[in-house]
Amino acid sequence: MSETVQVTRPTTNELDTPTYRLAVAQFDQAAEALNLDPNLRQRLKLPQRSLIVSIPVRMDNGSVEVFTGYRVQHDSSRGPSKGGIRYHPDVNLGEVAALAMWMTWKCALAGLPYGGAKGGVKVAPKKLSRSELQRLTRRYAAEIFPLIGPDKDVPAPDVGTDAQVMAWIMDTYSQQVGYAVQGVVTGKPLSIGGSLGREEATGRGVVYVTMEALRHLKMDIEKATVAIQGFGNVGSNTALIMQEAGAKVIAVSDVTGGIYNAKGLDIPELLRRYRTNGQTLRDTKMGDFLTNEELLQLNCTVLVPAALSEQITEKNAANLRCRILAEGANGPTTLEADRILIDKGVFIIPDILANSGGVIVSYFEWVQDAQRFFWKAKDIQERLHEIITNAFHRTLSFASAKKTSMRMAALMSGIDKVAQAHLQRGLYP
Ligand code: NAD
Repeated sequence: MSETVQVTRPTTNELDTPTYRLAVAQFDQAAEALNLDPNLRQRLKLPQRSLIVSIPVRMDNGSVEVFTGYRVQHDSSRGPSKGGIRYHPDVNLGEVAALAMWMTWKCALAGLPYGGAKGGVKVAPKKLSRSELQRLTRRYAAEIFPLIGPDKDVPAPDVGTDAQVMAWIMDTYSQQVGYAVQGVVTGKPLSIGGSLGREEATGRGVVYVTMEALRHLKMDIEKATVAIQGFGNVGSNTALIMQEAGAKVIAVSDVTGGIYNAKGLDIPELLRRYRTNGQTLRDTKMGDFLTNEELLQLNCTVLVPAALSEQITEKNAANLRCRILAEGANGPTTLEADRILIDKGVFIIPDILANSGGVIVSYFEWVQDAQRFFWKAKDIQERLHEIITNAFHRTLSFASAKKTSMRMAALMSGIDKVAQAHLQRGLYP
């Protein structure tokens, strides 16, 4: 099957977008600090494989619309590649390649036996009906079929996709091979081999590492105030679990803007109103309206960007007033902003560490599917806690030993593990 697929290795030019430039600039800095072999440097800046697909979809009105989709595998030296699928109108090859690269370092940093991948379709999913979304997903899954599989590349949810989308991908893949293949995707519904705790895992991981950061800074979670940009999977679960842990969530936002309440938002009640009536955050009347830009600049203990990349830039970084920046989103902070924040003394928990709870529990799901043996929620929470807090403390020790930032320490640890795997396997042929 794979002989018939057009797999192209793009030049850097084809990938050249702001998000890809950010990922490469971070990589270059870390590679320089590691004194990484120049041949490896060249290879690791580029994806291993990139597939661009056209997805014809019959719309409800009878017409056919063609969407563009991608699947990029950045590296598979340490195991199958792993990474989410994003449905968003701004998806492009460079963004998907950058997200795939970050997945490689993230998996290595957490010690998971995976490389990095990412996929995406250039589409506004909320503008499609449920049946259009299903047809789009099934055709996309069929087009990327030659690249994915439990031992090859395992997709998961990301922005604009959820457990239902994963179920359709699992079913499409299973129809092609003739039997149920649970391990082809993670983030599935429980009824078809999903894992307890996967949906909340990224948010739970953000909370676990934030609690370690607070402890390190000798601060009390009961006195912490939290502002969260993005109220989807990562943002809403972070809000819920932060509140359970004792923090006061004072602001949350989505693409339409946010709400602020100095006394603290009642997150379960907010979620009930937000989800049941299809209201905007503003309609819930649980706080004062504020823009996304205002939210980022709130005076708070912890700021959690949990939406898209490049939200904190040289234009607004100087105005941030948080003590801790816990990056739930991938790539929310530009390189220039990073420098400004470090100078201001903000403690940054970088994305590849802060949001790794998602892929850690995805790994648990994949292991459970392979073993056909499912774990209790308590086991999942304990194992997630152990892996992510160990990664936090290893990164903190590395940063202090090398006198570098948490971001550089996380990147260097991840990149070094991948480099070792390449050097030990050797160059084929
Ligand atoms: P989601 O689609 O569930 O939610 C995205 C949220 O961001 C929504 O509330 C949306 O309204 C908001 N948003 C979109 N555009 C915005 C804008 N311009 N300004 C402010 N808010 C905006 O997505 P998600 O799964 O929660 O992912 C959020 C981020 O976390 C992404 O960067 C993703 O790559 C990262 N992430 C997700 C997971 C996961 O398990 N889902 C794991 C690791 C990292």
